[in-house]
Amino acid sequence: MDFGIKGRKAIVCGASRGLGRAVAEALAEEGADLVLNARGAEDLERAAAEIRERFGVNVKTITGDLTTQEGCAAIKNLCPQTDILINNAGGPPAGDWRGFEREDWANAANSNMIGPIFLMRAYLDGMAERGFGRIVNIASIVVKMPKEILSLSVAARLGLTGAVKAIAPSVAEHNVTINNVLPELFDTDRLRSNLTTLGAKHGRTLEEEIAAHLEIIPASRLGKPQELGATCAFLCSQHAGFITGQSILLDGGFYPGLF
Ligand code: NAD
Repeated sequence: MDFGIKGRKAIVCGASRGLGRAVAEALAEEGADLVLNARGAEDLERAAAEIRERFGVNVKTITGDLTTQEGCAAIKNLCPQTDILINNAGGPPAGDWRGFEREDWANAANSNMIGPIFLMRAYLDGMAERGFGRIVNIASIVVKMPKEILSLSVAARLGLTGAVKAIAPSVAEHNVTINNVLPELFDTDRLRSNLTTLGAKHGRTLEEEIAAHLEIIPASRLGKPQELGATCAFLCSQHAGFITGQSILLDGGFYPGLF
């Protein structure tokens, strides 16, 4: 299937590794030109060079924190218009909700709700004027399965997905879509680091902790970042113009509910 996005411009945030990097590769495979963002210059430049070499697309980079006003402005300055926007940043820390201060809640809201909302705001009208736009926010399964230990993430990501549901209809007639993907247990650096910490608490090695988690995942394996990348690329394709305002789970069957 031709996704119909060859030569389209795509901004991918948090693209130096993990899920963001996988989405960048999937879009590059479909021939999209990329603007990649992450906070660390060295890893970002390495990722950009590898993607240019492998897929032969144009790749620009912008180092910065998308959760800050300056970071958003820098992305907009380098790239005044785009056809595709992938909002992605690191998740907030886990912990006892009583231990979090106002600043922690504000930081979580900035990274996983307000930053993405302001980047959407920066590009939505231009997308609507040109009659094509695709935005995908990488969120988390906690939107459907809140967990106390991830209360910061739950609050911020529910805010984002709620805002998306409210905003998406306003641009749908212009062939602009906004969707969220909700991953769980994808094999990335972040997941391995989280499971190492959790394993230490349970007196287990990383491998033992992964095995314990796989017992409750019907697919009996971790997700491959490439699978999430391909799903996002499809949501950005010309074929997905009728899918908008959705929050789509990618969890190997873990979520037990129907809706
Ligand atoms: P990761 O740590 O492997 O990669 C995160 C990427 O984002 C890196 O390139 C990092 O440099 C970049 N980044 C982080 N904060 C940034 C910021 N403020 N501005 C710009 N770039 C930033 O993480 P991952 O596993 O790929 O996760 C991506 C997102 O998906 C996170 O929000 C995470 O909480 C969420 N998530 C992941 C899983 C999973 O199974 N991996 C599950 C649920 C939710």
